[in-house]
Parts: sequence; structure tokens; C-alpha cells
Amino acid sequence: MELLKKVNKIKKIGTFDLEKQLMIIAGPCAIENEEQMKTTAQYLVDHNVHFLRAYPDKPRTSPYSFQGLGSQSHAIIREIKEQYPLFIVAELLNLEDLSFFNDYVDVIQIGARNMQNFALLKCLGAIKKPIILKRGFGNTIEEWLMAAEYLLNFGNDQIILCERGIRTFEPLTRNTLDISSIPIVKQITKLPIIADPSHACGRSDLVKPLSMAAVAAGADGLLIEVHPHPQMSLSDKDQALSFSEFNSLLDDLKALAGLRGLTF
Ligand code: PEP
Ligand code: MN
Repeated sequence: MELLKKVNKIKKIGTFDLEKQLMIIAGPCAIENEEQMKTTAQYLVDHNVHFLRAYPDKPRTSPYSFQGLGSQSHAIIREIKEQYPLFIVAELLNLEDLSFFNDYVDVIQIGARNMQNFALLKCLGAIKKPIILKRGFGNTIEEWLMAAEYLLNFGNDQIILCERGIRTFEPLTRNTLDISSIPIVKQITKLPIIADPSHACGRSDLVKPLSMAAVAAGADGLLIEVHPHPQMSLSDKDQALSFSEFNSLLDDLKALAGLRGLTF
């Protein structure tokens, strides 16, 4: 981990100050239609949340599950970017979408399943954009950090790590949020680390306590699934928060972030 030990962390994304603000990214699992995305975007603007999840493609376990709208959703992203003062966060699955992402996406996610897709890591190394690198659900912290080392080695030091839960023997949650990875990563590297409690637990009722635990443990931000009508969500409906549930989480987070000297 030669470079990881030396590199300084990304401090700003545009006007957003990662050292003074908690990075809250919220939005649906996938882009489903224009109304869903615009309603969510307006809600986030009204509540001082600066990063919108706008995911065109979904890596689903079953090929029969909703796969996302793919490039058909690009026009929606373009419009949102023009009309709302939000940073767009999206997962890149296909390298042929790289030029669209370069033009319209502010923060590119590498998902858990692609954490060790070294061809993708090498290509994104050359892109001058912040990258969220999720931990693979079967990967150790060291393997995850070596994947980050690939990005650094190929030229991108704007890395944000994301703990999204690992597979354990516990069936009552989808995965187990490894809270310990947050302070461990902070001991080993200077990189920011955020947590994704939604994919970690797969249950909306646990998103708030896990979010609070992650921020208390030192997380620099959260990635949270929020949907205007969770029960109508075409993917991951059991973990999506409604706007009112998200409001309640934001209220509690504000107080906790304040203890760490952070705002939103
Ligand atoms: C996601 O954030 O939409 C996602 C699929 O997450 P993960 O890669 O962590 O499963
Ligand atoms: Mn999801």
C-alpha cells in the first residue's frame, strides 16, 4: 500500500467541503422515471442535501429483476443536472458510458461487485473525477485498500471508500455493516470513508440506527436509499426510506454531526 500511505485525502467536491460537511448522498436505488427523480431532487434541495443518487444501471443478482433503464435514463440525468443545484452520483457498469459519465456525473461509484474489476479500475484511474469505491461483500479491508491502490497507481487520488456491509452467517440482515472498518481505514489511510447502511442491512427500520452508528464511528458521510413511494420501488423496496423517515434521520444526524463539528 505504497501510495495509500502517502496520498492526501480529497478535500473538496466543487464547493462541497468534505472536512467541514457530512457527505450525505440520497436517492432511489435506480432511476425509474422523470417524475420520481425530479420529486426526489426537489426534496433534497429543500432539505439541504447536496448529492443525488441517480443510477442508470443496476447490477442485480437475478437477470429477471429490474436492471435499470440504462442509457434511456441519461436524458433524465442531463435535465436534473441542468435544473437542480445537486451533485450527481452514479455507478458506472459499462465502459462505453464513460464519456457520458465524464460530462454529467460528478461522483462515480464502483459497486461492490466491481471492486476487483481491475480493467475498470485502471480506466477510472485516468479519469479526473471523485470515485466512490465500495467494499466487495466478500472482501477483506486489505483487498479493498489494494483496489484503491489500483486507482491511485493509475492516476486518480480522488477516492472515497464506502463500507456497504459484508456477507456473514446472519440471515436477519442482508449483509453485516462492518462498523470496525471505519476506524481501521482511518488508522491506515487518510482517505475519506462513507457508509451505505441501506445495502448493508436491506431493511428500512435499521437504516437510522446504522447511520448513526457509522457517523459516531467517524464516517465522513452516508449513502442512503430514499424513494418518494418506497413500496412502489422497482428495486430494493424493503430498504428504501420514505421522505418522512429520511426527515427524521436528518434531524438526528444534524445533532450528531454537530458533536463532530460538521454541518451538512
Ligand atoms: C448500489 O449502491 O446501488 C449498489 C448496487 O450497491 P452495492 O454495489 O454495494 O451492492
Ligand atoms: Mn439498491
